[in-house]
Amino acid sequence: MYLYNSLSHKKELFQPNSPDVVKMYTCGPTVYHYAHIGNLRTYIMEDVLEKALRYQGYNVKRVMNITDVGHLASDADTGEDKMLKGAKRENKSVMEIAQYYTDAFFADCDKLNIKRPDVVEPATGCIDEFIKIVVGLLEKGFAYEAGGNVYFDTSKLEKYYVFNDHDEEDLAVGVREGVEEDTNKRNRNDFVLWFTKSKFEDQALKWDSPWGVGYPGWHIECSGISMKHLGEDLDIHAGGIDNAFPHHTNEIAQSESYLGHKWCNYWFHVHHLNTNDGKMSKSKGEFLTVSLLESKGYDPMAYRLFCLQSHYRRNLVFSWENLDNAAVAYEKLIAKIATLNGEGEVEMDAFNALKEKFNNALNGDLNTSLAVTAVYDVLKAKCNDATKLALLKDFDQVLSLNLLENAEKVRVENARKEAENADPEIDAMVAARTEAKKAKNWAEADRIRDELKARGIEIIDTPQGAKWRKV
Ligand code: AMP
Ligand code: ZN
Repeated sequence: MYLYNSLSHKKELFQPNSPDVVKMYTCGPTVYHYAHIGNLRTYIMEDVLEKALRYQGYNVKRVMNITDVGHLASDADTGEDKMLKGAKRENKSVMEIAQYYTDAFFADCDKLNIKRPDVVEPATGCIDEFIKIVVGLLEKGFAYEAGGNVYFDTSKLEKYYVFNDHDEEDLAVGVREGVEEDTNKRNRNDFVLWFTKSKFEDQALKWDSPWGVGYPGWHIECSGISMKHLGEDLDIHAGGIDNAFPHHTNEIAQSESYLGHKWCNYWFHVHHLNTNDGKMSKSKGEFLTVSLLESKGYDPMAYRLFCLQSHYRRNLVFSWENLDNAAVAYEKLIAKIATLNGEGEVEMDAFNALKEKFNNALNGDLNTSLAVTAVYDVLKAKCNDATKLALLKDFDQVLSLNLLENAEKVRVENARKEAENADPEIDAMVAARTEAKKAKNWAEADRIRDELKARGIEIIDTPQGAKWRKV
């Protein structure tokens, strides 16, 4: 499988450290509010990546954190803890907020067929791990204490900006307008590993540490949780593109300084879902959630298809019109699959040829829009329906669009409607008209047609024979 690696800025052939297992880590949600559909785009594409790796035969161990402490309003280590902000907003405790929005997050994931990672770990459950790393970094001289906090010293690194050769001035954290600079930092990009003195004394969650009672910084959580469950080497680390800097940059800085060797080989970044007026954000008041889409009558699968139709390394613009197009496409796709009849043997030549197309799409840097095209290729192919159904079932292990399940629902619904409309007397009259036509008794055929018309029944002549419907 070829994947674009943000570290090398190239597509690379994916090779895990060990043939036995792919170690995958993905940054999880900060559970102070619902996930918006932009966040969920990232989780959908990570889910596809994990499933595509499994589809290639890899055994994957995937770990995800839940950020329930330490993620401040500004990535420059200033502002309030987002969790505290959420708790105040809703007059609840931080832990209540964390539990509620963690459950809400996984409920959204279920609706979108996003598989739960093998390990899900809240940051508040790993404080000892974080402290161990901070102690190690201080011992090795990569960290310092100032003003009560512990900071990572970025001047100790040969290369800090690993993802891009950024212009330091452009990226300078802590000097943006409206954001107060932390004067304890020796270098502009230094970041907090452990807070003890926060100007927000009402921080709800605090733990004992060698540096006093406090709480961990956001970045150390992902390094600590990853090392706890995946050890010292990681194959793939994934997240939204906004996390590349400073979050992932800082994760690499502290992990590699602590471990003394390279930490993660491949970095997978999903680009943003934007609206016409810019980036989707939770701070902008009302924001788009899966529940909101559902309340407007959209099947969450339509949103999943919408995401799959575009490449993860392109920004995607959300508009209701675009979602409508995906919803119509999804409905048509399911209706078409519902007409397939599974009898017969699978034709292996056709199966393998179409599967290869699908596989090539995934292997070419997770080209999901081409993978969706492969679904349409199956429907157009000259093979029998049993082969088509077998292929769709196979592809849906990765796409997770409920293709066969929803087609079955449509079939059941169509049969129910048909049964509801069944009327043996009308059937008999339609059959009598067919007989009259066969006997060239046009007058009788017309008479029956007129009589049915008077009863509000229209006859439709189809290649499969005459059918009728109420008008
Ligand atoms: P958060 O809960 O804010 O920590 O974000 C959860 C995930 O969503 C992270 O991987 C972010 O990088 C990602 N993310 C945030 N905004 C967007 C967006 N507009 N489109 C896609 N992914 C996003
Ligand atoms: Zn992270």
